[in-house]
Amino acid sequence: MNDNRPNILFIMSDDHAAHAMSCYGSRINRTPQLDRIANDGMRFDNCFCTNSICTPSRAGILTGTYNHVNGVTTLATPMDNRLTTYPKLLREQGYQTAIFGKWHLGIGPQHCPTGFDDWAVLPGQGFYHNPEFIFKGPDGGSRRTIPGYVTDLITDMTMSWMDKRDPEKPFCLMCHHKAPHRPWYPDEKHDAMYLNETIPEPPTLQDDYANRAAAAAEAHMRVGVHMNPLDIKADIPNNMPEAELRSWAYQRYIKDYLRVVASIDDNVGRILDYLDENGLTDNTLIVYTSDQGFFLGDHGWYDKRFMYEESLRMPLIMRYPREIRPGTINKDIVLNIDFAPLFLDLAGVPVPTEIQGSSFRALLQGSPPDDWRRAMYYRYWMHGDQCHNTTAHYGIRTLRHKLIYYYADALDQPGTTARPMTPEWELFDLEKDPCEMNNVINDPAYRQTVIELKTELHRLQDEVGDERYPLDTD
Ligand code: CA
Repeated sequence: MNDNRPNILFIMSDDHAAHAMSCYGSRINRTPQLDRIANDGMRFDNCFCTNSICTPSRAGILTGTYNHVNGVTTLATPMDNRLTTYPKLLREQGYQTAIFGKWHLGIGPQHCPTGFDDWAVLPGQGFYHNPEFIFKGPDGGSRRTIPGYVTDLITDMTMSWMDKRDPEKPFCLMCHHKAPHRPWYPDEKHDAMYLNETIPEPPTLQDDYANRAAAAAEAHMRVGVHMNPLDIKADIPNNMPEAELRSWAYQRYIKDYLRVVASIDDNVGRILDYLDENGLTDNTLIVYTSDQGFFLGDHGWYDKRFMYEESLRMPLIMRYPREIRPGTINKDIVLNIDFAPLFLDLAGVPVPTEIQGSSFRALLQGSPPDDWRRAMYYRYWMHGDQCHNTTAHYGIRTLRHKLIYYYADALDQPGTTARPMTPEWELFDLEKDPCEMNNVINDPAYRQTVIELKTELHRLQDEVGDERYPLDTD
């Protein structure tokens, strides 16, 4: 290939938490194929999403902008497909582009994928077994059901597209898995994993939400009591004490979650082997991430949405032999909106000024700039959503602290319910309290820290052009 620009192979799963990957020190499973990427590349320990929920995070990744800018604030705000995205910019500069798998940014002519030479995506969440796909075509594409297991099928499509591509031109290929989104349906190959094992419980499984903002106790995300029979493939017992129910339901759902993850791991291995066999390993940036994290029984929860660590953190591992030293770990703050500018930077394509994220190419190379961000801004908009009754909030995370403001107002956003609550603040010292069990907002020892963090929060809001909630007047 005369064109020396790198290929970009971007694998993203849905709701795969970093603490279910052995390269992140998982206590509950092994992911040998994903570990190959980390061992031969870089693991990012502080990659965060700017809004921990599917559709908004995906829009942030594609556009490189915050959700108040791209308009995709909740699950009920499909993305306008006329927006500028990194695949469009790469394609304009001669890249071959394609996406296979989960899209979840809306369907139909205004919302289907654009900027791709080829695509096949699941409608909405899609199904694990014998899924229907929408294939690229006029009027938003055409539907066809494909027999098989969804993670295998998306991988098959990814590899057969690589077979068909023009080898003289670089490619940007997105392999976006539905797995491991709930409800969890493993394939036959992994169905018997963990059958006679007890999976270790997280230390905060029996969290009672004392000394936290009311939002924690009010969320309908508790393992067992707020699940439905599809989540655990059994009826929810109505006569079991809640602590016992949490432990029982945890064992049932986490095993299916990990079985579904095992299929992702196998299929990532197939792709890595394909790159090796076709001489593509050296000139391809391979990325594995998830659209956000997930609570694996942490705080007694499943799901995400909160700014707490397990939900906020995205797993991120990257291999690119030309610029990344094998086996390296980065602890700088990287965001989902940084992916677009990084990919453009590596391809030598100018980054438009509208993009709010920053290329972290210098981090790949092991030389973070002195002025790299030391704090990130987060906002969850979907107040009082019907499934999980979560509370709208925004906040700031630094390397040491996290300040959250539950402004608790739907603000007429689509997909929300007006459910008046009193706004509340939370502050966590992540060094002393990594599990975020102890809100120290009223602790006099942190008075000065609170002042500094609020100032920085409001500065970040000004910088990204978001509006402060009217009652946040400090
Ligand atoms: Ca997701």
